[in-house]
Amino acid sequence: MSRTLEALEKVLAYGARRLSSTADSPVAAASSIEKLRSALDLPLPADPLGPELVTQHLIDEAGPGMVFSAGGRFFGWVMGGTLPAALAADWLVSLWDQNAAITATSPGAAVIEEVAGRWVKELLGLAADASFAFTTGCQMSHTTCLAAARHSLLADAGWAVERRGLFSAPPIRIVTGSQKHASVERSLRLLGFGLDALRIVPEEDDGTISEEDLRSALAREEGPAIVILNAGDLNIGAFDRFSSLIPIAKQAGAWVHVDGAFGLWLRASRERRHLVEDIDLADSWATDSHKWLNVPYDSGIAIVRHPAAHRAAMTVQASYIAPGEGVRDAIDWTPEWSRRARAVPTYAALRELGASGLADLIDRTCDLTHRLATGIGALDGAVLLRDPQINQALVRFEDERAGASADDGDRRTDRVIELVNAGGSAFFTATTWRGRRAMRISLCNWQTNEADVRRVIRSVAQAIAEAGRA
Ligand SMILES: *Cc1c(COP(=O)(O)O)cnc(C)c1O
Repeated sequence: MSRTLEALEKVLAYGARRLSSTADSPVAAASSIEKLRSALDLPLPADPLGPELVTQHLIDEAGPGMVFSAGGRFFGWVMGGTLPAALAADWLVSLWDQNAAITATSPGAAVIEEVAGRWVKELLGLAADASFAFTTGCQMSHTTCLAAARHSLLADAGWAVERRGLFSAPPIRIVTGSQKHASVERSLRLLGFGLDALRIVPEEDDGTISEEDLRSALAREEGPAIVILNAGDLNIGAFDRFSSLIPIAKQAGAWVHVDGAFGLWLRASRERRHLVEDIDLADSWATDSHKWLNVPYDSGIAIVRHPAAHRAAMTVQASYIAPGEGVRDAIDWTPEWSRRARAVPTYAALRELGASGLADLIDRTCDLTHRLATGIGALDGAVLLRDPQINQALVRFEDERAGASADDGDRRTDRVIELVNAGGSAFFTATTWRGRRAMRISLCNWQTNEADVRRVIRSVAQAIAEAGRA
């Protein structure tokens, strides 16, 4: 047996064990940082070691330090699992080890990427002639889309930004709501807009921005503007009202970008599509495959309504690049040069699910979120902060002793989360929402089922009881 095969067989055997023991593996990492360091922090290897031994060491020593976010009882941050075909495709990507920069380096990857891009646009109901890029994640999708926006707005103002840079360019304002994701800010920093370019529109009670506030923010100053709207914020899954907000922004000449890291997939839903009605009127959209589509990391997607601006912002020329004839070269659309064939797992996920399977996945995870959030909210000492409309919810745990304060409730909330996570049957993360601690419920995994929901509600009830005894 070849050494490569020996190493791979170890992974396959481990994978079969790990994935089949879904029901009982602890969700949080089983190992501590100290233990991981003592096993992994070895002196720089001076001599070679067989690949099967290297692999076995990783499985045995690093494995216990991995969070079981691929399983069905992980509700932290916004993280998807991985569909079987997407996982297999991801392994193929490494096996093929293609450089998917240009068609010449991988015709197979180039064609898959073309098709995957077309499927995504069709599924999301976005313009068929929009351009796209498969990026490392939504953060780099923002960067790609906002670079296209920067090109377009400054070209309109007579400024060739790719040549002249930003130092003396006409200023561009970035108008967005207070619930924007921090990745938007980093994109603005990377692109040279700077955080001072932000004009924050206050959030309404429902987590969105209002028509009047957007209109007055745009009218307050002259000059080019980018408006960034949310399709699903992290706390309550709020959706800006695209039908009315996008026309207001367009009328002011702004470029409209949508952060739809997970929420854009609601376009594929049967029951909740109204939340993303008219989102196709925007100029660019950033989303992820590695969240709700259940594709392994790292898989983001940028889609731009104006291919010429997108290409102008991203294209490169070098004497040794042979342009693809009649085939799209990814390097013209992405921020990277060499890159893995990262569209392949998205292609595989979309084939495995089909449009109907994706609709089922989206609506089922929303329904289960509702059941889980209302089930936890009905427990003594728990408060459901918002009736969830998608797959994101917030609950809080109050300290019910006489005279207990809201600060005690903050501490109780953190304590309950800690106890649930330590118990190993589920994993949640905390947030501060409108000044108070809350437990986030974020359910993106294709595997989560009713039995998981019942089991998790029971563990939360136990944790509440235990926190109350302490
Ligand atoms: C996760 C997330 C991002 C960042 O996406 P990455 O894929 O981690 O780069 C941006 N916006 C929202 C709303 C998100 O949930």
